[in-house]
Amino acid sequence: MTVSVANGRVLIVGATGFIGRFVADASLDAGRPTYVLVRPSSGNQYSKDKVAKALRDRGAILLNGLANDKELMVKLLKEHQIEIVISALGGATILDQLSLVEAIHSAGTVKRFLPSEFGHDVDRADPVEPGLTMYKEKRQVRRLIEKLEIPYTYICCNSIASWPYHNNRHPSEVIPPLDHFEIYGDGSVKAYFVAGTDIGKFTMKTVDDIRTLNKSVHFRPACNFYNMNELAALWERKIRRTLPRVTITEEDLLSAAAENIIPQSIVASFTHDIFIKGCQINFPIEGPNETEACSLYPNEPFRTLDDCFNDFLAKMKDENMKQSDENTKQSNEIPPPKPVVEAFAITATCA
Ligand code: NDP
Repeated sequence: MTVSVANGRVLIVGATGFIGRFVADASLDAGRPTYVLVRPSSGNQYSKDKVAKALRDRGAILLNGLANDKELMVKLLKEHQIEIVISALGGATILDQLSLVEAIHSAGTVKRFLPSEFGHDVDRADPVEPGLTMYKEKRQVRRLIEKLEIPYTYICCNSIASWPYHNNRHPSEVIPPLDHFEIYGDGSVKAYFVAGTDIGKFTMKTVDDIRTLNKSVHFRPACNFYNMNELAALWERKIRRTLPRVTITEEDLLSAAAENIIPQSIVASFTHDIFIKGCQINFPIEGPNETEACSLYPNEPFRTLDDCFNDFLAKMKDENMKQSDENTKQSNEIPPPKPVVEAFAITATCA
């Protein structure tokens, strides 16, 4: 049962980013009045414009500005009577949220704020540097929210459904390995994997649920609880062949983190925390200020990792087709058969 207190206007900050796009789509899917803050310029202008346009075409209202422009944010929040603000600012601009929090406080319209979290419980987890610095910044944002008594929900959704590459901050954009697996430690430490669409969907369920007010919401879908060895076996069943395994030791991950190459080293430090230290599973969810998504919404299924891996397989086939067509065009020959595609026929397994 969702205990709704409103169907208020939602502003999503960072909607042109990796996680923000899932949240914005889910907000539109839920039929909510959805506003999206788009910052004037950045390095990835083309893809950003495309995403913003796609959201606008789906009914989102685009607002221009910077989240850290306090004066502007107060004006926008008041002018559009925004009741829910969800931030998905990226790791490099976490502290931009301090001004946003102050703006929310001044505007007085907002009934719920979800800061940019979308990972682990940052008050609990203790990764090595440079991941720790990001967590310290997220903690700083939490403390300001609590000090100003802004109603909040912290989304701790754990890992995104994908092969957890230790040097890629958006691993679900990459197909799982086809040559060899890199297994962290002995590959036995488990983690929770959540589809990007479910990160969006369940985030939106919490935003006006009274049961999630001033709480951390952990995502722990039992169907997506895997260790590295199980993950590798799942992918092998999809591609119908076995791949060699290479062990990435704890020391390897710590060295990659210590190189301090941003953002790869941050991902390495989180990978160490998850797959060596077990930061997703070494605590029960039992405190007064925390709850779990499956117990809140027991009738709402999570997409299985098995299904997500089917998506990767389909994407791989699609890319192989395109490549094959391209090769055909270039050589201007009679199209050859597509052996790679046939070798990866989809298996009909389901979790
Ligand atoms: P991205 O870098 O992909 O996107 C950041 C977004 O914020 C972009 O839309 C960017 O705009 C916008 N932005 C940044 N600064 C400002 C500003 N000052 N004003 C307005 N907009 C701004 O971020 P991610 O999606 O990677 O990260 C979002 C959150 O999710 C982070 O907290 C991160 O730690 C977490 N995360 C969790 C993962 C998981 O597996 N659980 C995986 C990845 C991230 P523009 O398009 O102009 O650049």
